[in-house]
Amino acid sequence: MHIIGAGLSGLSAAVRLAHKGIPVTVHEAAGHAGGRCRSYFESELDCDIDNGNHLVLNGNHATLDFLRLIGAEDTVHVPSPADIPFVDLVDGTRWSVRPGKGRIPWFALSSLRRIPGTSLKDYLQSWRMMWATDTQAIKDVMPTGGVLWRRFWVPVIAAVTNTDPAAAGAATMRQVVVETLARGEAACRPVFFPNGLSRSLISPAVDFVTAMGGQVRFNHRLRGVQKINDTVSALEFVQDRVDLSDNDCVISAVPAAIAKDMFDGIVGPNAFSPIVNGHFRLKQAFDAPPLLAVVGGTAEWLFSREDVVSVTVSAAASLVDLPSETIAVRFWADIQAAYGLVGVAMPPFRIVKEKRATFLQTPDQLRRRPDCRTRWRNLYLAGDWTATGLPATIEGSIRSGAAAASAALDQVNKMSGST
Ligand SMILES: Cc1cc2nc3c(=O)[nH]c(=O)nc-3n(C[C@H](O)[C@H](O)[C@H](O)COP(=O)(O)OP(=O)(O)OC[C@H]3O[C@@H](n4cnc5c(N)ncnc54)[C@H](O)[C@@H]3O)c2cc1C
Repeated sequence: MHIIGAGLSGLSAAVRLAHKGIPVTVHEAAGHAGGRCRSYFESELDCDIDNGNHLVLNGNHATLDFLRLIGAEDTVHVPSPADIPFVDLVDGTRWSVRPGKGRIPWFALSSLRRIPGTSLKDYLQSWRMMWATDTQAIKDVMPTGGVLWRRFWVPVIAAVTNTDPAAAGAATMRQVVVETLARGEAACRPVFFPNGLSRSLISPAVDFVTAMGGQVRFNHRLRGVQKINDTVSALEFVQDRVDLSDNDCVISAVPAAIAKDMFDGIVGPNAFSPIVNGHFRLKQAFDAPPLLAVVGGTAEWLFSREDVVSVTVSAAASLVDLPSETIAVRFWADIQAAYGLVGVAMPPFRIVKEKRATFLQTPDQLRRRPDCRTRWRNLYLAGDWTATGLPATIEGSIRSGAAAASAALDQVNKMSGST
Protein backbone atom coordinates (compact mmCIF):
# COMPACT_ATOMS: atom_id res chain seq x y z
CA MET A 1 0.00 0.00 0.00
CA HIS A 2 1.44 3.39 -0.97
CA ILE A 3 0.45 6.60 0.80
CA ILE A 4 1.39 9.96 -0.67
CA GLY A 5 1.89 12.66 1.96
CA ALA A 6 2.87 12.37 5.63
CA GLY A 7 0.52 15.03 7.00
CA LEU A 8 -2.06 13.92 9.56
CA SER A 9 -4.36 12.43 6.91
CA GLY A 10 -1.61 10.29 5.40
CA LEU A 11 -0.26 9.28 8.80
CA SER A 12 -3.75 8.36 9.99
CA ALA A 13 -4.19 6.07 6.97
CA ALA A 14 -0.70 4.60 7.45
CA VAL A 15 -1.24 3.94 11.15
CA ARG A 16 -4.60 2.18 10.54
CA LEU A 17 -3.16 -0.03 7.83
CA ALA A 18 0.09 -0.80 9.67
CA HIS A 19 -1.98 -1.71 12.73
CA LYS A 20 -3.85 -4.25 10.59
CA GLY A 21 -0.56 -5.76 9.44
CA ILE A 22 -0.67 -4.29 5.92
CA PRO A 23 2.78 -3.31 4.56
CA VAL A 24 2.75 0.46 3.95
CA THR A 25 5.16 2.91 2.39
CA VAL A 26 4.54 6.61 2.98
CA HIS A 27 6.12 8.97 0.43
CA GLU A 28 6.62 12.52 1.71
CA ALA A 29 7.93 15.40 -0.40
CA ALA A 30 9.38 17.33 2.55
CA GLY A 31 12.24 16.32 4.79
CA HIS A 32 9.84 16.01 7.72
CA ALA A 33 6.34 14.76 8.47
CA GLY A 34 3.34 16.75 9.74
CA GLY A 35 2.48 19.02 6.79
CA ARG A 36 0.31 21.84 8.16
CA CYS A 37 0.42 20.48 11.72
CA ARG A 38 3.95 20.33 13.01
CA SER A 39 6.59 21.80 15.33
CA TYR A 40 9.96 23.17 14.35
CA PHE A 41 12.95 24.96 15.86
CA GLU A 42 12.60 28.72 15.48
CA SER A 43 16.02 30.34 15.65
CA GLU A 44 14.60 33.88 16.26
CA LEU A 45 13.10 32.62 19.51
CA ASP A 46 15.68 29.92 20.21
CA CYS A 47 13.00 27.32 20.93
CA ASP A 48 10.57 24.91 19.28
CA ILE A 49 7.23 26.33 18.18
CA ASP A 50 4.21 24.91 16.38
CA ASN A 51 3.48 26.23 12.87
CA GLY A 52 0.10 27.22 14.28
CA ASN A 53 -1.76 26.82 17.55
CA HIS A 54 -4.24 24.00 17.17
CA LEU A 55 -7.46 24.05 19.15
CA VAL A 56 -8.84 20.56 19.74
CA LEU A 57 -11.61 19.46 22.11
CA ASN A 58 -11.85 16.02 23.66
CA GLY A 59 -15.17 15.44 21.87
CA ASN A 60 -12.90 14.85 18.84
CA HIS A 61 -12.94 11.12 19.47
CA ALA A 62 -10.93 10.10 16.38
CA THR A 63 -8.05 12.30 17.52
CA LEU A 64 -8.04 10.72 20.96
CA ASP A 65 -8.28 7.22 19.47
CA PHE A 66 -5.35 8.06 17.19
CA LEU A 67 -3.26 9.30 20.14
CA ARG A 68 -4.09 6.07 22.02
CA LEU A 69 -3.18 3.85 19.07
CA ILE A 70 0.22 5.49 18.55
CA GLY A 71 0.93 5.42 22.29
CA ALA A 72 0.93 9.21 22.71
CA GLU A 73 -2.13 9.68 24.90
CA ASP A 74 0.07 10.63 27.86
CA THR A 75 1.68 13.50 25.94
CA VAL A 76 -1.51 15.60 25.95
CA HIS A 77 -3.10 17.52 28.79
CA VAL A 78 -6.89 17.64 29.06
CA PRO A 79 -7.94 19.82 32.02
CA SER A 80 -11.26 18.98 33.61
CA PRO A 81 -13.88 20.35 33.94
CA ALA A 82 -14.09 22.38 30.73
CA ASP A 83 -13.69 26.05 31.61
CA ILE A 84 -12.60 28.38 28.82
CA PRO A 85 -11.83 31.98 29.81
CA PHE A 86 -12.81 34.87 27.54
CA VAL A 87 -12.01 38.60 27.64
CA ASP A 88 -13.68 41.43 25.73
CA LEU A 89 -10.97 44.03 25.11
CA VAL A 90 -13.54 46.72 24.30
CA ASP A 91 -14.74 47.05 27.89
CA GLY A 92 -12.52 44.63 29.81
CA THR A 93 -15.37 42.22 30.67
CA ARG A 94 -14.15 38.73 31.54
CA TRP A 95 -16.13 35.49 31.75
CA SER A 96 -15.72 31.76 31.42
CA VAL A 97 -17.59 29.36 29.20
CA ARG A 98 -18.44 26.33 31.33
CA PRO A 99 -20.83 23.99 29.52
CA GLY A 100 -23.18 22.06 31.79
CA LYS A 101 -22.82 18.37 32.56
CA GLY A 102 -25.65 17.05 30.39
CA ARG A 103 -26.85 17.56 26.86
CA ILE A 104 -29.41 20.22 27.77
CA PRO A 105 -27.74 23.64 28.17
CA TRP A 106 -29.47 24.51 31.45
CA PHE A 107 -26.86 27.23 32.07
CA ALA A 108 -28.63 29.36 29.45
CA LEU A 109 -31.56 29.69 31.88
CA SER A 110 -29.43 31.43 34.50
CA SER A 111 -28.38 35.04 33.90
CA LEU A 112 -25.44 34.39 36.25
CA ARG A 113 -24.09 31.61 34.06
CA ARG A 114 -24.83 33.10 30.65
CA ILE A 115 -22.20 35.08 28.78
CA PRO A 116 -22.51 38.67 30.09
CA GLY A 117 -25.02 40.72 28.09
CA THR A 118 -26.78 37.71 26.52
CA SER A 119 -30.37 36.56 26.94
CA LEU A 120 -32.07 33.17 26.82
CA LYS A 121 -33.60 34.23 23.48
CA ASP A 122 -30.10 34.56 21.95
CA TYR A 123 -29.30 30.93 22.83
CA LEU A 124 -32.65 29.68 21.53
CA GLN A 125 -32.10 31.48 18.21
CA SER A 126 -28.66 29.83 17.82
CA TRP A 127 -30.37 26.45 18.08
CA ARG A 128 -31.72 26.97 14.53
CA MET A 129 -28.29 25.84 13.33
CA MET A 130 -29.42 22.29 14.15
CA TRP A 131 -31.77 22.27 11.15
CA ALA A 132 -29.25 23.68 8.65
CA THR A 133 -29.02 22.17 5.18
CA ASP A 134 -25.86 21.78 3.09
CA THR A 135 -26.64 24.86 1.01
CA GLN A 136 -27.04 27.20 3.97
CA ALA A 137 -24.43 29.51 5.45
CA ILE A 138 -24.48 30.46 9.13
CA LYS A 139 -26.08 33.81 8.20
CA ASP A 140 -29.04 31.91 6.70
CA VAL A 141 -29.87 30.07 9.91
CA MET A 142 -29.17 32.34 12.88
CA PRO A 143 -28.76 36.02 13.77
CA THR A 144 -25.28 37.34 12.99
CA GLY A 145 -25.36 40.28 15.33
CA GLY A 146 -25.80 40.89 19.04
CA VAL A 147 -23.73 40.06 22.06
CA LEU A 148 -23.83 36.24 21.88
CA TRP A 149 -22.74 36.40 18.25
CA ARG A 150 -19.84 38.73 18.98
CA ARG A 151 -18.75 37.23 22.29
CA PHE A 152 -19.10 33.55 21.46
CA TRP A 153 -20.02 32.52 17.95
CA VAL A 154 -17.54 34.73 16.06
CA PRO A 155 -14.39 33.41 17.79
CA VAL A 156 -15.71 29.83 17.86
CA ILE A 157 -16.96 29.59 14.25
CA ALA A 158 -13.86 31.37 12.91
CA ALA A 159 -11.56 28.97 14.80
CA VAL A 160 -13.48 25.90 13.63
CA THR A 161 -14.10 26.82 9.98
CA ASN A 162 -11.31 29.32 9.19
CA THR A 163 -13.95 31.26 7.27
CA ASP A 164 -15.80 34.54 7.84
CA PRO A 165 -18.28 33.22 10.47
CA ALA A 166 -21.41 34.55 8.74
CA ALA A 167 -20.41 32.94 5.43
CA ALA A 168 -19.29 29.57 6.85
CA GLY A 169 -21.24 26.41 6.00
CA ALA A 170 -23.88 25.88 8.70
CA ALA A 171 -24.26 22.11 8.36
CA THR A 172 -20.53 21.50 8.90
CA MET A 173 -20.54 23.74 11.95
CA ARG A 174 -23.61 21.92 13.25
CA GLN A 175 -21.70 18.63 13.11
CA VAL A 176 -19.02 20.11 15.36
CA VAL A 177 -21.66 21.39 17.78
CA VAL A 178 -23.35 17.96 17.83
CA GLU A 179 -20.05 16.23 18.65
CA THR A 180 -18.86 18.74 21.28
CA LEU A 181 -21.03 21.55 22.75
CA ALA A 182 -24.31 19.62 22.50
CA ARG A 183 -22.80 16.71 24.44
CA GLY A 184 -22.02 18.89 27.42
CA GLU A 185 -18.92 19.60 29.47
CA ALA A 186 -17.37 16.13 29.13
CA ALA A 187 -16.94 16.62 25.35
CA CYS A 188 -15.71 20.23 25.49
CA ARG A 189 -12.42 19.92 27.36
CA PRO A 190 -9.55 21.48 25.42
CA VAL A 191 -6.73 19.10 24.49
CA PHE A 192 -3.33 20.75 24.98
CA PHE A 193 -0.05 19.64 23.46
CA PRO A 194 2.48 20.87 26.06
CA ASN A 195 5.47 19.44 24.18
CA GLY A 196 4.28 20.65 20.78
CA LEU A 197 2.19 19.10 18.01
CA SER A 198 4.97 16.98 16.53
CA ARG A 199 5.86 15.23 19.78
CA SER A 200 2.22 14.19 20.29
CA LEU A 201 0.69 13.65 16.88
CA ILE A 202 3.45 13.32 14.33
CA SER A 203 6.68 11.67 15.56
CA PRO A 204 4.85 8.91 17.50
CA ALA A 205 2.79 8.16 14.37
CA VAL A 206 5.92 7.88 12.20
CA ASP A 207 7.54 5.70 14.88
CA PHE A 208 4.43 3.50 15.06
CA VAL A 209 4.41 2.93 11.29
CA THR A 210 8.09 2.02 11.20
CA ALA A 211 7.82 -0.18 14.31
CA MET A 212 5.06 -2.13 12.52
CA GLY A 213 7.39 -2.76 9.56
CA GLY A 214 6.25 0.16 7.38
CA GLN A 215 8.44 2.76 5.74
CA VAL A 216 8.29 6.56 5.67
CA ARG A 217 10.40 7.94 2.82
CA PHE A 218 11.19 11.65 3.19
CA ASN A 219 12.25 13.95 0.34
CA HIS A 220 10.35 11.59 -1.96
CA ARG A 221 8.07 13.80 -4.00
CA LEU A 222 5.52 12.27 -6.32
CA ARG A 223 5.52 14.11 -9.64
CA GLY A 224 3.06 12.04 -11.65
CA VAL A 225 1.30 8.72 -12.06
CA GLN A 226 0.84 6.31 -14.93
CA LYS A 227 -2.52 4.72 -15.55
CA ILE A 228 -3.73 1.79 -17.57
CA ASN A 229 -7.50 1.69 -18.12
CA ASP A 230 -9.09 2.28 -14.68
CA THR A 231 -5.93 1.48 -12.69
CA VAL A 232 -2.95 3.47 -11.44
CA SER A 233 -0.06 1.34 -12.68
CA ALA A 234 3.04 3.29 -11.60
CA LEU A 235 4.09 6.13 -9.32
CA GLU A 236 6.70 8.49 -10.72
CA PHE A 237 8.79 10.25 -8.10
CA VAL A 238 11.36 12.96 -8.74
CA GLN A 239 14.18 10.42 -8.17
CA ASP A 240 12.67 7.08 -9.19
CA ARG A 241 9.60 5.12 -10.21
CA VAL A 242 7.56 2.44 -8.47
CA ASP A 243 5.59 -0.03 -10.61
CA LEU A 244 2.45 -1.21 -8.88
CA SER A 245 1.26 -4.80 -8.71
CA ASP A 246 -2.40 -5.80 -9.16
CA ASN A 247 -2.97 -5.78 -5.40
CA ASP A 248 -1.32 -2.41 -4.72
CA CYS A 249 -3.47 0.54 -3.74
CA VAL A 250 -2.53 4.19 -3.50
CA ILE A 251 -3.89 6.67 -0.97
CA SER A 252 -3.33 10.26 -1.96
CA ALA A 253 -3.10 12.45 1.17
CA VAL A 254 -1.75 15.62 -0.45
CA PRO A 255 -3.54 19.01 -0.39
CA ALA A 256 -6.44 19.59 -2.80
CA ALA A 257 -4.57 21.71 -5.35
CA ILE A 258 -1.77 19.13 -5.67
CA ALA A 259 -4.16 16.15 -5.95
CA LYS A 260 -6.05 17.97 -8.70
CA ASP A 261 -2.85 18.47 -10.74
CA MET A 262 -1.58 14.96 -10.10
CA PHE A 263 -4.66 12.85 -10.86
CA ASP A 264 -7.06 13.79 -13.68
CA GLY A 265 -10.70 14.27 -12.94
CA ILE A 266 -10.37 15.07 -9.22
CA VAL A 267 -12.63 17.93 -8.23
CA GLY A 268 -12.00 19.62 -4.90
CA PRO A 269 -12.27 22.96 -3.16
CA ASN A 270 -10.42 25.68 -5.06
CA ALA A 271 -10.60 28.66 -2.70
CA PHE A 272 -8.41 28.90 0.39
CA SER A 273 -8.22 30.90 3.58
CA PRO A 274 -5.22 32.11 5.62
CA ILE A 275 -4.40 31.77 9.32
CA VAL A 276 -1.87 34.08 10.98
CA ASN A 277 -0.06 33.08 14.15
CA GLY A 278 2.30 35.15 16.28
CA HIS A 279 4.70 33.66 18.80
CA PHE A 280 6.29 35.86 21.49
CA ARG A 281 9.06 34.65 23.78
CA LEU A 282 8.87 36.43 27.13
CA LYS A 283 11.83 36.83 29.49
CA GLN A 284 10.28 34.31 31.87
CA ALA A 285 7.26 32.09 32.29
CA PHE A 286 4.26 33.81 33.85
CA ASP A 287 1.04 32.57 35.34
CA ALA A 288 -1.51 32.59 32.53
CA PRO A 289 -4.30 30.23 31.53
CA PRO A 290 -3.15 27.93 28.71
CA LEU A 291 -5.99 29.21 26.50
CA LEU A 292 -7.78 32.56 26.44
CA ALA A 293 -10.36 33.70 23.88
CA VAL A 294 -10.11 37.37 22.96
CA VAL A 295 -12.99 39.46 21.62
CA GLY A 296 -12.76 43.01 20.33
CA GLY A 297 -9.07 43.03 19.38
CA THR A 298 -6.98 41.73 16.50
CA ALA A 299 -6.00 38.55 18.33
CA GLU A 300 -8.67 35.84 18.62
CA TRP A 301 -7.14 33.08 20.73
CA LEU A 302 -4.09 33.25 23.01
CA PHE A 303 -2.18 30.10 23.90
CA SER A 304 0.35 30.25 26.67
CA ARG A 305 3.05 27.64 27.23
CA GLU A 306 5.81 28.40 29.76
CA ASP A 307 7.50 31.58 28.45
CA VAL A 308 5.90 31.54 24.97
CA VAL A 309 2.60 33.30 24.27
CA SER A 310 1.08 32.56 20.87
CA VAL A 311 -1.73 34.35 19.09
CA THR A 312 -4.04 32.86 16.47
CA VAL A 313 -6.20 34.71 13.98
CA SER A 314 -8.29 32.59 11.61
CA ALA A 315 -9.92 33.72 8.36
CA ALA A 316 -7.12 36.30 8.38
CA ALA A 317 -7.49 37.69 4.85
CA SER A 318 -7.35 41.28 6.08
CA LEU A 319 -4.17 40.64 8.10
CA VAL A 320 -2.05 38.26 6.09
CA ASP A 321 -0.55 40.80 3.67
CA LEU A 322 0.48 43.30 6.34
CA PRO A 323 4.17 43.45 7.31
CA SER A 324 5.01 41.05 10.16
CA GLU A 325 6.21 43.94 12.35
CA THR A 326 2.82 45.67 12.06
CA ILE A 327 0.99 42.45 12.92
CA ALA A 328 3.31 41.85 15.89
CA VAL A 329 2.64 45.33 17.31
CA ARG A 330 -1.12 44.73 17.12
CA PHE A 331 -0.87 41.28 18.65
CA TRP A 332 1.40 42.47 21.43
CA ALA A 333 -1.05 45.27 22.36
CA ASP A 334 -3.79 42.64 22.72
CA ILE A 335 -1.54 40.34 24.78
CA GLN A 336 -0.69 43.22 27.09
CA ALA A 337 -4.35 44.12 27.59
CA ALA A 338 -5.50 40.51 27.99
CA TYR A 339 -2.83 39.50 30.49
CA GLY A 340 -2.30 42.87 32.20
CA LEU A 341 1.28 43.17 30.92
CA VAL A 342 0.98 46.90 30.32
CA GLY A 343 4.40 48.58 30.11
CA VAL A 344 6.27 45.36 29.23
CA ALA A 345 8.36 45.90 26.08
CA MET A 346 7.59 43.71 23.07
CA PRO A 347 9.83 40.60 23.30
CA PRO A 348 11.33 38.67 20.35
CA PHE A 349 8.56 37.40 18.09
CA ARG A 350 7.88 35.32 15.02
CA ILE A 351 4.83 35.83 12.81
CA VAL A 352 3.83 32.73 10.82
CA LYS A 353 1.51 33.31 7.87
CA GLU A 354 -0.12 30.22 6.39
CA LYS A 355 -1.79 31.64 3.27
CA ARG A 356 -3.53 28.38 2.36
CA ALA A 357 -4.09 27.14 5.90
CA THR A 358 -7.33 25.39 4.90
CA PHE A 359 -9.87 25.61 2.13
CA LEU A 360 -12.57 28.27 2.48
CA GLN A 361 -15.46 26.51 4.19
CA THR A 362 -18.44 28.19 2.55
CA PRO A 363 -21.38 26.03 1.34
CA ASP A 364 -20.18 26.32 -2.29
CA GLN A 365 -16.69 25.12 -1.48
CA LEU A 366 -17.91 22.43 0.92
CA ARG A 367 -20.01 20.96 -1.89
CA ARG A 368 -16.85 20.45 -3.94
CA ARG A 369 -15.40 17.94 -1.44
CA PRO A 370 -14.92 14.50 -3.02
CA ASP A 371 -15.55 11.08 -1.54
CA CYS A 372 -12.48 8.97 -0.75
CA ARG A 373 -13.24 6.67 -3.71
CA THR A 374 -12.15 7.84 -7.17
CA ARG A 375 -12.82 6.63 -10.68
CA TRP A 376 -9.44 4.84 -10.50
CA ARG A 377 -9.93 1.34 -9.10
CA ASN A 378 -6.91 1.46 -6.77
CA LEU A 379 -6.69 5.18 -5.93
CA TYR A 380 -8.26 6.64 -2.76
CA LEU A 381 -8.27 10.18 -1.44
CA ALA A 382 -7.56 11.42 2.07
CA GLY A 383 -7.12 14.99 3.26
CA ASP A 384 -8.91 17.59 5.34
CA TRP A 385 -10.54 18.79 2.09
CA THR A 386 -12.30 15.48 1.34
CA ALA A 387 -15.93 14.79 2.27
CA THR A 388 -15.63 14.07 5.98
CA GLY A 389 -18.70 16.06 7.04
CA LEU A 390 -16.39 17.95 9.40
CA PRO A 391 -14.46 21.17 8.91
CA ALA A 392 -10.83 21.04 7.76
CA THR A 393 -9.33 20.18 11.11
CA ILE A 394 -7.12 17.63 12.86
CA GLU A 395 -10.22 15.55 13.59
CA GLY A 396 -11.38 15.74 9.97
CA SER A 397 -7.90 14.80 8.69
CA ILE A 398 -7.61 11.80 10.98
CA ARG A 399 -11.07 10.57 9.99
CA SER A 400 -10.33 11.10 6.30
CA GLY A 401 -7.21 8.93 6.57
CA ALA A 402 -9.14 6.23 8.41
CA ALA A 403 -11.93 6.26 5.78
CA ALA A 404 -9.46 6.00 2.87
CA ALA A 405 -7.57 3.20 4.65
CA SER A 406 -10.74 1.22 5.19
CA ALA A 407 -11.89 1.67 1.56
CA ALA A 408 -8.44 0.62 0.29
CA LEU A 409 -8.44 -2.37 2.61
CA ASP A 410 -11.82 -3.50 1.25
CA GLN A 411 -10.36 -3.33 -2.25
CA VAL A 412 -7.26 -5.31 -1.26
CA ASN A 413 -9.46 -7.98 0.38
CA LYS A 414 -11.66 -8.09 -2.71
CA MET A 415 -8.63 -8.48 -5.00
CA SER A 416 -6.98 -11.17 -2.89
CA GLY A 417 -10.33 -13.02 -2.68
CA SER A 418 -10.66 -12.96 -6.45
CA THR A 419 -7.12 -14.25 -7.19
C1 LIG B 1 -1.92 27.69 10.98
C2 LIG B 1 -2.91 26.58 11.06
C3 LIG B 1 -3.74 26.49 12.18
C4 LIG B 1 -4.67 25.47 12.28
N1 LIG B 1 -5.45 25.39 13.39
C5 LIG B 1 -6.20 24.29 13.58
C6 LIG B 1 -6.90 24.12 14.80
O1 LIG B 1 -6.89 25.00 15.67
N2 LIG B 1 -7.59 22.96 15.00
C7 LIG B 1 -7.62 21.98 14.05
O2 LIG B 1 -8.21 20.91 14.32
N3 LIG B 1 -7.03 22.14 12.85
C8 LIG B 1 -6.32 23.27 12.60
N4 LIG B 1 -5.67 23.44 11.41
C9 LIG B 1 -5.93 22.49 10.30
C10 LIG B 1 -5.05 21.22 10.35
O3 LIG B 1 -3.72 21.54 10.62
C11 LIG B 1 -5.16 20.56 8.98
O4 LIG B 1 -6.52 20.26 8.73
C12 LIG B 1 -4.35 19.26 8.88
O5 LIG B 1 -3.05 19.41 9.37
C13 LIG B 1 -4.33 18.84 7.42
O6 LIG B 1 -3.64 17.62 7.29
P1 LIG B 1 -3.53 16.88 5.89
O7 LIG B 1 -2.72 15.67 6.10
O8 LIG B 1 -4.88 16.72 5.30
O9 LIG B 1 -2.76 17.89 4.92
P2 LIG B 1 -1.27 18.42 5.01
O10 LIG B 1 -0.89 18.66 6.42
O11 LIG B 1 -1.17 19.56 4.07
O12 LIG B 1 -0.37 17.20 4.49
C14 LIG B 1 -0.10 16.96 3.14
C15 LIG B 1 1.31 16.38 3.03
O13 LIG B 1 1.55 16.02 1.66
C16 LIG B 1 2.88 16.36 1.34
N5 LIG B 1 2.97 16.48 -0.12
C17 LIG B 1 2.48 17.49 -0.90
N6 LIG B 1 2.77 17.23 -2.20
C18 LIG B 1 3.40 16.04 -2.24
C19 LIG B 1 3.95 15.24 -3.30
N7 LIG B 1 3.88 15.63 -4.59
N8 LIG B 1 4.56 14.06 -3.00
C20 LIG B 1 4.64 13.65 -1.70
N9 LIG B 1 4.15 14.38 -0.65
C21 LIG B 1 3.54 15.55 -0.91
C22 LIG B 1 3.09 17.68 2.08
O14 LIG B 1 4.47 17.97 2.21
C23 LIG B 1 2.40 17.39 3.40
O15 LIG B 1 3.27 16.81 4.35
C24 LIG B 1 -4.77 24.50 11.24
C25 LIG B 1 -3.94 24.59 10.12
C26 LIG B 1 -3.03 25.62 10.02
C27 LIG B 1 -2.15 25.71 8.80
